[in-house]
Amino acid sequence: MSVERTLSIIKPDAVAKNVTGEIVGRFEKAGLKVVAMKMLHLSREQAEGFYAEHKERPFFGDLVAFMTSGPVIVQVLEGEGAVLKNRDLMGATNPKEAEAGTIRADFAETIDENAVHGSDSTESAAREVSYFFSDEEICPRTR
Ligand code: ADP
Ligand code: MG
Repeated sequence: MSVERTLSIIKPDAVAKNVTGEIVGRFEKAGLKVVAMKMLHLSREQAEGFYAEHKERPFFGDLVAFMTSGPVIVQVLEGEGAVLKNRDLMGATNPKEAEAGTIRADFAETIDENAVHGSDSTESAAREVSYFFSDEEICPRTR
């Protein structure tokens, strides 16, 4: 396994619940390092572009409305096998099916408001990281 970067978004529902610190703590406890982080209130265009792969899905309009309903925290997480590690920490898309102890099981109730986003492959991670961050905004850890 090699050191990877992945994009994480703490979604508007989790920001509203005031659990962003607890969620970041889960990443840190699992050995993922935050190498970039910012709070944003996504525009409709930003949310539509980010989720372009889902634009034909019936839930696309609701997804964009939700993702623009309040601020989010976007982060780049770095570590050994970061893409899969983050997906494991997140749990299944539907919180009702997510394993106990995962972020979605603990902080979300419904599939449409499910607390976090995480890149699903190293290819999508590369696209998603550069969607939100320039190279200068990513801070490699030297210690
Ligand atoms: P994941 O976020 O686990 O990678 P997907 O990429 O399949 O899941 O979907 C992106 C997001 O769209 C999900 O996190 C969820 O917020 C929303 N979504 C997915 N499927 C549904 C659905 N059937 N109904 C409502 N919202 C959905
Ligand atoms: Mg996805």
